Amino acid sequence: MINRLKQLTIQNYFGKQFPLDYRVYMIFFFESYFISILSAITNTMLNKGLFGLVLQWSYIIFCTVMIFVLPRIRLTLQKPHLLFITFIYIPFLYFQTAGYDGTALLFAQLGIFLLAIVFSGKARIIIIALNILNYLACIIVSQLYPQLVTPHNGPVALLIDLIVALILSFTGLAILTIYISKVFADNSNTLAELSIRDALTGVYNRRFMTDFLQRELDRARQTGSRVYVLMLDIDHFKRINDTYGHGFGDHVLLACAQAIQNTLRKSDVIVRYGGEEFAIIMPAQTPVKVADIAERIRQAISSLRFRYNVTITVSIGIEESQPDDTIEDILIRADQCMYKAKQNGRNRVVVGNTTMNLSF
Ligand code: GH3
Ligand code: MG
Ligand code: MG
Repeated sequence: MINRLKQLTIQNYFGKQFPLDYRVYMIFFFESYFISILSAITNTMLNKGLFGLVLQWSYIIFCTVMIFVLPRIRLTLQKPHLLFITFIYIPFLYFQTAGYDGTALLFAQLGIFLLAIVFSGKARIIIIALNILNYLACIIVSQLYPQLVTPHNGPVALLIDLIVALILSFTGLAILTIYISKVFADNSNTLAELSIRDALTGVYNRRFMTDFLQRELDRARQTGSRVYVLMLDIDHFKRINDTYGHGFGDHVLLACAQAIQNTLRKSDVIVRYGGEEFAIIMPAQTPVKVADIAERIRQAISSLRFRYNVTITVSIGIEESQPDDTIEDILIRADQCMYKAKQNGRNRVVVGNTTMNLSF
């Protein structure tokens, strides 16, 4: 129940469906809400001017309402809200809480950080510059007209204010930075993963295979072990496309890839080698075991049942690496075995030069 609530909250305020700047803004939103409540309670207890209290409490009411409105409305109000905070609210707090002896400038930094994320292009530069000028103006005005600044009630109040503000603003900045760097790392990982996967079936693509196979061939050469390559081609696949359409063909390809995946170990690599052709790379196996797996794949695929009562079969060629093999060498030989399987009547496995297990 609590987990579900947590999930709903995260989804509603920080869900991946929202742009990154909005999610960062929402973190800031809750931080500023929390800080404002603390600050408003303190100021109310210290009985600081009516105008200031009204402004602070109005701001808190506004934030409370914002929590419950639709995300769409929060998205629309994101920029005006930030402008209000950075150009009016924090400068106001500056005068109300001891000027440059106080803590408002610590929060001003957080504000600038957010402006830099939420705005872009020329607007970003102009707004940040104006914001800096705004604080400079605050400092100059408070120097020239010290009577505008509400001082602290004493050294203890100043100390407490500084400690609380330092912890809140520094922690706030750290949370925002950690969140952004985490999203950045996640995105880089996703991109790296996407660049080595086939979009339709999710199995590896040829770009990945080249690197992987080279590494495995090198390793096999060093350790004196063998690498096995299976080349698998769907039989008469063109007919399926021609009869039932390309979309149906895609569906068959995906199911086929999944059936192969389910038959393999995690350490085996399956690659979409061409349109309806898959390559499977199995390091550290025995020839008998590999032939057995190939046969299981063949059977798993031929027992798939599709709409319109469609079934498919595959032809599989297996080759074993030789110590001086290049990637091309072993792939060509595996391909030749697969073609042999086609020539011999399809729906079968050919290992090197031997045709095996024709039970169908
Ligand atoms: P064989 O038994 O000799 O392999 O016959 P085949 O029809 O499977 O072989 P052929 O090479 O003539 O045809 C392969 C077909 O695969 C042609 C192409 O339309 C289809 N194909 C290739 N890539 C895709 C794809 O991504 N999606 C779909 N739906 N079809 C594809
Ligand atoms: Mg084919
Ligand atoms: Mg083919």
